[in-house]
Amino acid sequence: MKASRKDGPRKSIFDESMEAFYRAAEHIKLNPRVRLELEEPDFEHIFYITIETRDRLVPVTKEEEAHFKDLPASSVKAGEALEPLANGQFVLHRRALLKADITLREGVLRIPKRGLFRIEKGGPKKFKAYRIQYNQVRGPYKGGVRYHKDVSLDLFKALAADMTWKTAIADIPFGGAKGGVRIDPSAYSKEELEHVTLRFIYKLKNVIGPYVDIPAPDVNTNPEIMAIMMRQFTDGERMPHAMRGVVTGKDVRIGGSEGRAKATGQGTVYCLEEWARWRGESLAGKRVLVQGFGNVGTASAEILHAMGAKVVGVQDAYGTIVNEKGLDIPALLAHAAEPDNLRRSVEGFTGGSKLSRDDFWKVDAEIAIPAALGGTITGDVAEGLKVQVVAEAANGPTTPDGDRVLRDRKIDLIPDIICNAGGVTVSYYEWLQNLRMEHWSEAEVNNRLERAIKANFGIIHDISTDSPQKTPLYDSRRFVVGKKVDMRTAAMALALRRIENHYLLEGFSQ
Ligand code: NAD
Repeated sequence: MKASRKDGPRKSIFDESMEAFYRAAEHIKLNPRVRLELEEPDFEHIFYITIETRDRLVPVTKEEEAHFKDLPASSVKAGEALEPLANGQFVLHRRALLKADITLREGVLRIPKRGLFRIEKGGPKKFKAYRIQYNQVRGPYKGGVRYHKDVSLDLFKALAADMTWKTAIADIPFGGAKGGVRIDPSAYSKEELEHVTLRFIYKLKNVIGPYVDIPAPDVNTNPEIMAIMMRQFTDGERMPHAMRGVVTGKDVRIGGSEGRAKATGQGTVYCLEEWARWRGESLAGKRVLVQGFGNVGTASAEILHAMGAKVVGVQDAYGTIVNEKGLDIPALLAHAAEPDNLRRSVEGFTGGSKLSRDDFWKVDAEIAIPAALGGTITGDVAEGLKVQVVAEAANGPTTPDGDRVLRDRKIDLIPDIICNAGGVTVSYYEWLQNLRMEHWSEAEVNNRLERAIKANFGIIHDISTDSPQKTPLYDSRRFVVGKKVDMRTAAMALALRRIENHYLLEGFSQ
């Protein structure tokens, strides 16, 4: 993400994300040794994985097309053996050549209705991989796995630190971690991504486990990938069933929890419900912008739509769709799930109009939900927002300059470490169910989640407004800092107090 006019020269993502840590540490006078312990990760695992890739059919360039205009079409009978990839290429499985009648010139062939392609040989490929284990004083390391072309040590340190604060805020007995692979998943087949996942867990086997470090889904990973991770970790073990809690976010049919798929979006909505209630309002009729239409964005949009809110704009990596009367979210979900919509994109949806990327955040609405990647609400973007609240469903979506502008403009903020804590909270319920060999109903999961999110969000609100109180749901008296602070600092203050207790009460091993 480029620095905007309002943003000063960018520091590292990690340094930026730690600004709230240092602010809160000052406010609560965090013990100096605890502060040192929390300034850097416990462990940084950086390693490489290799896989074999298949041959590819890569579309030729526009200039090359003229050169091959008289190339006769090839007939590839086993059409299903050409596996389409989201980046426009095809994986060429060898069975595609059985009974095929192929005319090749300079390595190029024409496939009827699909165009001209150059055959590119597959072979071994190497990818950089990471697992950052930030802190485990409150329990096993916990955090998602991201497959993306732009990941780095800097980013994963920031996200692993975030997980440490988030598990403390959610008051679940976990620490923080994050990791993943530097890869563009749109350029690889399902089978190749399976091999990436298998190698990733093969290399991590000694440092993860149900009581050590518990991965979960994040950007471009999903329940299918979690199933592969669980299989690889438990393969050949004597008691594989006792290890199901090694990953969370699994399919409900193999030990996943009811409600986990929508949990992050559901948690965001519980926060928004409280935000509206404090204002004496309801979410019905409120206009909403959602950036990102993956796991978190779809769940947030679907739940808000069902509650009578109007989702007036959705943006993903490939397109932006708006409709001031409110998008038909079930129809948009069906569009994204179409089998030939390989990028699962909102692009091409006919129930709204297209908008340029840069104008998305300027659309009139009351609620903005960034649910894609980090660094999207810069100072400039924040200046143009027309909303009353930014609910950070994504991790780290607001830059420090964006934060300052939101504060100056009195736009409310629901910070990521509570706003998207629903995911890890239900991951904890999944882990508990796995250890106890139980299966809870969706209603039971959501009841617990609602209580947990609303109680902890209530404490953060009380810290922010300096209004200590004991309610039937929670007691915020021991967390307030004696003055009003912004919501991000308040959330961090709650996390640091809960973490500090462990160090101070348990002491340090020397
Ligand atoms: P996902 O891979 O399911 O979806 C990501 C979405 O973001 C896709 O729709 C993609 O097209 C879109 N996107 C990517 N780049 C974009 C860009 N430049 N502009 C607009 N849209 C873009 O990922 P997810 O699991 O929904 O995660 C989304 C965010 O929520 C991430 O920041 C993640 O760390 C955070 N989060 C996820 C969970 C979870 O349970 N999955 C929990 C907590 C936080």
